[in-house]
Amino acid sequence: MRTLFAQFDCEEALPRLYHFIDEELQAHELEAMRDHLDGCDNCAYEHEVRSKLKNVIREACVDTAPPSVRQRVVARLAELRQALAEPA
Ligand SMILES: [Zn+2]
Repeated sequence: MRTLFAQFDCEEALPRLYHFIDEELQAHELEAMRDHLDGCDNCAYEHEVRSKLKNVIREACVDTAPPSVRQRVVARLAELRQALAEPA
């Protein structure tokens, strides 16, 4: 087990996922996040889902999105969750 960096548990890692995806974490937090995602299937899964959601949002350019666009994005996220949950 690596103990070079402070280890995140899931409660610490999950709130930082969006910042991790946006590369807004401090260096030591980035390392702790990478360590945690390496060893935690649950958070790695959340990371994958949220990364995909961010791509969907970016593609939809929803900065000033009307509710209909937001609904499409939420529906797309549900599809992604289902796709990821299905065994390959
Ligand atoms: Zn975790």
